[in-house]
Amino acid sequence: MAKLYFYYSAMNAGKSTVLLQSAYNYQERGMETLIFSPAMDSRFAGGKVHSRIGLTADAIAFDQAFDLYQFTANHQAANPTLACVLVDEAQFLKKPQVMQLTDIVDQLDLPVLAYGLRSDFRAEPFEGSQYLLILADNLIELKTICHCGKKATMSARIDQQGRPVKEGAQIQIGGNESYIAMCRKHYKMSG
Ligand SMILES: [Zn+2]
Repeated sequence: MAKLYFYYSAMNAGKSTVLLQSAYNYQERGMETLIFSPAMDSRFAGGKVHSRIGLTADAIAFDQAFDLYQFTANHQAANPTLACVLVDEAQFLKKPQVMQLTDIVDQLDLPVLAYGLRSDFRAEPFEGSQYLLILADNLIELKTICHCGKKATMSARIDQQGRPVKEGAQIQIGGNESYIAMCRKHYKMSG
């Protein structure tokens, strides 16, 4: 029985690294994988997954209108060894696209591994993560730590002067801001 898995964390917990390792494990056994990543990821050209430790893989870029179910159904028909679907930066999915992931599992009988942020820098939900938390069969937390050593559950946005910011657009295209993972206590004390 295929399942929908949601691997969630704060920023910089190594989500893309885990995704690429999982894809490699399938490919090593002769099973094909399909990797989706958002076209809006401005850090790199669309169609790639990059991890901070240097691993990289080709991916299918999706925007908000992209039908992940239809693409996967067509791909499966042409590639019978397709064994798994992986989604990078899954917080950027829209609600209908999360439903498409459930259709990939329920109708195509393919496991789906989605990786994304639990919440944004304002401590507000992302649409994709919100519905994945509701609809996924399995929730797996990827852990990283705050500077104090406690588990980090929050992602703070840091401006160019190194100051935490708590307001602004959820997605900053082409921005120079960076993010730091923090525990809740230190997130509340910042900014
Ligand atoms: Zn802390």
